[in-house]
Amino acid sequence: MTHDDDRPTSAGHNTRLVRSGANPRGFHGFVNPPVYHGSTVLFPDTATMRSRGQKYTYALRGTPTTDALEEALDGLEGSAGTILLPSGLAAVTVPLLAFLSAGDHVLIVDSVYTPTRRFADSVLTRMGVAVEYFDPAVGEGLASLMRPETRVVFLEAPGSNTFEMMDIRAASGIAHAGGAVAMLDNTWATPLYFRPLEHGVDLSIHALTKYPGGHSDLLMGSVSANAATYDRLRDTQMALGINVAPDDTSLVLRGLKTMGIRLERHQESALQLAHWLEGCDEVARVLHPALPSFSGHALWKSQFSGSSGLFSIVLRGGGMTEAAAFLDALKLFGLGYSWGGFESLAVVADLSDRILAKAPSEGPVIRLQIGLEDVADLRADIENGLAAVNRLKD
Ligand SMILES: *Cc1c(COP(=O)(O)O)cnc(C)c1O
Repeated sequence: MTHDDDRPTSAGHNTRLVRSGANPRGFHGFVNPPVYHGSTVLFPDTATMRSRGQKYTYALRGTPTTDALEEALDGLEGSAGTILLPSGLAAVTVPLLAFLSAGDHVLIVDSVYTPTRRFADSVLTRMGVAVEYFDPAVGEGLASLMRPETRVVFLEAPGSNTFEMMDIRAASGIAHAGGAVAMLDNTWATPLYFRPLEHGVDLSIHALTKYPGGHSDLLMGSVSANAATYDRLRDTQMALGINVAPDDTSLVLRGLKTMGIRLERHQESALQLAHWLEGCDEVARVLHPALPSFSGHALWKSQFSGSSGLFSIVLRGGGMTEAAAFLDALKLFGLGYSWGGFESLAVVADLSDRILAKAPSEGPVIRLQIGLEDVADLRADIENGLAAVNRLKD
């Protein structure tokens, strides 16, 4: 326990973020934990070495720097233990490798992050795991998809690019009833707006690259586990020999301090733009869970305590030409992957791999990451994009 013992347990989330991962008394009063660069850790004698009676034994197994971030995330997720991985995608693949073996069956939500699907269709399939996708709208029907050899139910809510919502507690319950582990990619909400373990999920996955890092300057992932799944998760991480670099770890610790106030701004600006976009003729639909018009709104409202800065618009008609006209007219929104940083970004979503949760039929889907710029400027930029789409119609 490196947290201060007197930290307020019922504190609000900004207070918890400011206090998280801090142990000034352990480090000569310095507010932040030191950044330990290391591989070898020395032991005082053979007896200590043989008994492993020393907290740190080798940097792959953890340092005070990685411990600080793991404990900060445990505090936010309410987890028994957290592992850190060098990307969000590794935070998806390592728990799947930990809990799946040849002959097993995995159920994955069809609106999952595309690289998660690619991993399942390539590596998991090659390992001899039967991979099956389910409709995010499956509801209680998920139970009928469970097989005796189903070991993992993999969830993501809201869904990537199209933001489908699910009843997480119901899905986790079905997984457990069949003897499977429930994993959820919680990157969109962060632990501030959704705490999966409180809804029955065993393993909560994050791309720390996004809001926790917050500055588009690093890649990292985390998996926060309940007591039942933590040892197997940690053992697999160590067997694979994967941990994270100290400088990036300290950047995520830094990012966490401001994540609450950044998210408030991302949320507020995204909602303002989403509401405005709903009234624009060029837009057929806005896919944002916090909009009352959105099909998954009730499920979002009953489970989540906030929304972040990522949502999509469906253009009214057209295809790639119209999407490109919109995107190429933008000057503030960058064209680039990832999200959760300070800057606004836009991409056209490729939903061609969907089997069940099909792409909207009205027109192309454009995903917007609303950054920390002034919302009036972002709105003017989007207006330019929509005007470029209109010019194609003349
Ligand atoms: C970005 C993202 C990831 C992967 O994170 P990287 O750090 O880019 O590998 C995983 N899941 C979701 C939902 C993401 O948006």
